[in-house]
Amino acid sequence: MALLQIQEPGGKTAKALHRLAVGIDLGTTNSLVAASCGGSVEILPDTDGDYLLPSIVRYREGQPALVGKEAKLGLIEDAENTLSSIKRFLGKSLTELKTQNKYLPYKFDESRSDTSPAIVTVDGVKDPVQVSADILRKLAKRAEQCLKGPLDGTVITVPAYFNDSQRQQTRDAARLAGLNVLRLLNEPTAAAVAYGLDSKDQGNIVIFDLGGGTFDVSLLSLQKGVFEVLATGGDTSLGGDDFDYVIADWVAAQLSSKTESEFTVNAQLLQIANAAKHQLSFDESVQLSFDDWSASLSREEFAKLTEKLVSKTINTCRRVLRDASLSVEDIDNIVMVGGSTRMPVVREAVAKYFNKAPLTNIDPDKVVAVGAGIQADVLIGNKPADSFLLLDVNPLSLGIETMGELVEKIIPRNTTIPVVRAQEFTTFKDGQTVMSFHVVQGERELVTDCRSLARFELRGIPPMVAGAAKIKVSFQVDADGLLSVAAQELSSGTKAEVQVKPSYGLDSGAIEQMLQDSYDNAQTDMEARSIKEAQIEARQLISAIANARSVDESLLPIDESRRIEIAVDELEAALIDAGSNQIHALIEKLNLVSGDFAARRMDLTIAEALRGESIDKVNSQ
Ligand code: AMP
Repeated sequence: MALLQIQEPGGKTAKALHRLAVGIDLGTTNSLVAASCGGSVEILPDTDGDYLLPSIVRYREGQPALVGKEAKLGLIEDAENTLSSIKRFLGKSLTELKTQNKYLPYKFDESRSDTSPAIVTVDGVKDPVQVSADILRKLAKRAEQCLKGPLDGTVITVPAYFNDSQRQQTRDAARLAGLNVLRLLNEPTAAAVAYGLDSKDQGNIVIFDLGGGTFDVSLLSLQKGVFEVLATGGDTSLGGDDFDYVIADWVAAQLSSKTESEFTVNAQLLQIANAAKHQLSFDESVQLSFDDWSASLSREEFAKLTEKLVSKTINTCRRVLRDASLSVEDIDNIVMVGGSTRMPVVREAVAKYFNKAPLTNIDPDKVVAVGAGIQADVLIGNKPADSFLLLDVNPLSLGIETMGELVEKIIPRNTTIPVVRAQEFTTFKDGQTVMSFHVVQGERELVTDCRSLARFELRGIPPMVAGAAKIKVSFQVDADGLLSVAAQELSSGTKAEVQVKPSYGLDSGAIEQMLQDSYDNAQTDMEARSIKEAQIEARQLISAIANARSVDESLLPIDESRRIEIAVDELEAALIDAGSNQIHALIEKLNLVSGDFAARRMDLTIAEALRGESIDKVNSQ
């Protein structure tokens, strides 16, 4: 903590407490650190004046690790010990990583394939949390040198789609680096904060984030200084690299036609393509050359070549608006984030779709860190505590498994967090003392199509008849997206809880896929659900009738008993493959043929209850 000395009116010197807080954009490729300096938030440079810290760590034997640009050379010289893009490893198991990336230049401890990937380096085994901690430590050191004092708090940004386990590992990394995490902040929210400071806009804001390899769109609502994330969407495999490939493919095709032999894209071509792409952000056309071949590429041709990629980004915007039930006219501002939003072709498409120019006056590489820095300053108490409040949303619905392997959604997708929601459930069997809970995540109707997050049991439920116990299940998602589920039997107060740090492996691509599946299967899912519900109702009726018969068979004349048996058989047969309408029709039929029997049982029960009691007494009760 640094003590800032300020001059009081009248000349006396007073000591004011200024707590040091920084915002960190912990990126896949590069990381940045920002802090409030003399009233405005700035990105803190290293001693060479560079802002970006490459998110690369090179481990060495018996020496401290190299982090950032010093580690870069290791990518070629010492690939096994030089770890990059480690953010993609957070929250994933080795098995998952290997299915996602065919080629990884690291040596893994294969005996730990179900846990966090253990990377064998000359400096021992490292996991993604330790590597991320080394990057954070380097940024913190840079900040402490710039700000001349130890840090009191940090805000770290994470992708909006990070799941609980990825968020938890980010927190763990910060803790390992000795940082006090004030909050994890969603990257798009941070970008909005950066602009909120400048222009204090009110209304709906779209954050359009196109980086090197990923694309994210978030829709935020800003009201009287309060941000709320209304909806999010994206694509983990769409980014600037794809634009490089388009140009490289175009060059390869020209070379192939010239030499009449197949020319494939290689690293050198990609480099040429990337340079050309950058130049096209400034010039109307670019001259490309390779060996003795040379050609020019205009912005217009580039726009045609990349039309598909650009329209993919616009389609995602369309879906996000639809999720929030808003139209383009409702959008007041569009904030551009990520290096690829420098491309005029992207800016123009965005401007055309939203019918207004996007905001680009903050460097799209720095905007997230700036927002995190501003938020850190507020949270540490250097600014009025209620300057603004940030609310985010959970990206996928959270729910619980109910009878028939159906999902009951407790917190729907895109609900603003933090949030607490509760619902009551009951027992299925008489005398049931234990209840199992299965927490799931996803948009589909059946448990098998959703993602299993956790299972737990509530024991010690007092024995009661089926349906009498009241079990309150509460779901709580905190500001960082961590989920706690609690179940409590209300008469006895007996309680069980689980904190969900869900299994590994849900990146934004997986989320997109889950959403796509739910759109594609909406019709069949609804049908499957109504069949399951009809089947449950049918089974409950069959079981109730069997129970009644075992007790009061004497009340059933032979012909009536036979009719009930036939109706039961028909209903049972229908449970195998009939649709919900047919099952409902047969349930009705069984209710009809067993109606008299039920009435006689009711009469008998009433008669037994009244035995020995006078009518007056019964009436007066
Ligand atoms: P980021 O991950 O946000 O740093 O974005 C990196 C991506 O932005 C890479 O694909 C870069 O090629 C791209 N990029 C950076 N500057 C420009 C530019 N001036 N024009 C086009 N693309 C750019």
